Amino acid sequence: MATAVLGGGNFTAVPTRTTCPSCHQEVTTVANHTSGLLTWLACAGLCLIGCVFGCCLIPFCIDECKDVEHRCPNCDSYIGVYKRIG
Ligand SMILES: [Zn+2]
Repeated sequence: MATAVLGGGNFTAVPTRTTCPSCHQEVTTVANHTSGLLTWLACAGLCLIGCVFGCCLIPFCIDECKDVEHRCPNCDSYIGVYKRIG
């Protein structure tokens, strides 16, 4: 489990309160799900187990497996990213 550390805070999958390194405002980050390595691994894994557990699990798994990018709502600067793996 790896987390990006920037500005002294650990990022998670949810919006996080931190100080923006760009505009120096205390903000709650905007969290965007982005496709990471694990997303593709999950896709491959779901192809293998999909016939066992059913397709209803796919949307949940995909969202849970995505990396989460944090941006500043004030100046739209990139603040950090939470990676599921790597
Ligand atoms: Zn900012």
